[in-house]
Amino acid sequence: MAEVREPAIRVEDLRFSYGEIEAVKGISFEVMPGEILGFLGPNGAGKSTTIKMLIGLLPPQGGRATVLGTDVALDDPGLQARIGVCFEEKNLYLNMTARENLEFFAALYGVKDADVDGALRRVGLADRADDRVKTFSKGMRQRMMIARAFINRPDVLFLDEPTDGLDPVTAAAIRATIKEEAARGAAVLLTTHDMFEADELSDRVAFINEGVIVALDTPENLKIKHGTRAVRVRLRDGDGVAEEVLPLGDEAATKRLAELAASPDLLTIHTEEATLEQIFIKLTGRGLAG
Ligand code: ATP
Repeated sequence: MAEVREPAIRVEDLRFSYGEIEAVKGISFEVMPGEILGFLGPNGAGKSTTIKMLIGLLPPQGGRATVLGTDVALDDPGLQARIGVCFEEKNLYLNMTARENLEFFAALYGVKDADVDGALRRVGLADRADDRVKTFSKGMRQRMMIARAFINRPDVLFLDEPTDGLDPVTAAAIRATIKEEAARGAAVLLTTHDMFEADELSDRVAFINEGVIVALDTPENLKIKHGTRAVRVRLRDGDGVAEEVLPLGDEAATKRLAELAASPDLLTIHTEEATLEQIFIKLTGRGLAG
């Protein structure tokens, strides 16, 4: 008989308000083992509040959430050892070295054979292993938080804006690490307001705006369902280059495309698909910045 796989994270109609401010207004989703779910939304959408409820920092005020089958409202310490968290607060021990920090957290989680050097290597800090964290830059502390999040080989990873403020090379290394963790079988819930990051990493993306999920699907399906595909044509124009963007499936545009394709000034034709940001704007009337 086929194995029935349970979601690693199950959220049903979850709600939270800060006084009058309704931050999370009844959201539902699931994340399967090995799956990366991207939470994409602008500042204030409710992403961090949702994660805070799932990792036991805030009590849900409505609805229900389970992580690895355990209700998050129970605040089970056994669960903490099976999850990894990278959150805004950088609660590292500044007087300890990078290696000591990771060894400490591994011991705290009861991990006996933690690959501390491997973890430091993966986040590009192997050469700083014996330096105290207080000498680290903001980005290096962020990388320590990522290394710490997966030191216990967690079954679930909660990553809040994991590459925010990192240089592009480090950000790419961190993204590769996140993919490796999912390939190992970890369920990953990742918040971001970077549509490229969401598109690159996520098996599925939840668009979150003003405390509600407005769409949840694979990036591919979101683009097929909500986006308009287009063709971008570049033509020689005197000494410069002119561009025309023609939507696919539009009769007039198709005619124009045939004309341009026959033009001696034609340089390139590229198909373009909608970006997640364009779809987000279409669905919510607002962009991802701010
Ligand atoms: P960001 O990308 O800026 O982190 P976010 O999507 O994580 O945004 P939240 O931090 O969950 O959003 O905020 C959701 C709403 O709750 C916002 O309106 C925010 O102002 C409000 N909020 C968040 N934390 C508090 C708090 N401690 N007290 C009062 N209101 C809060």
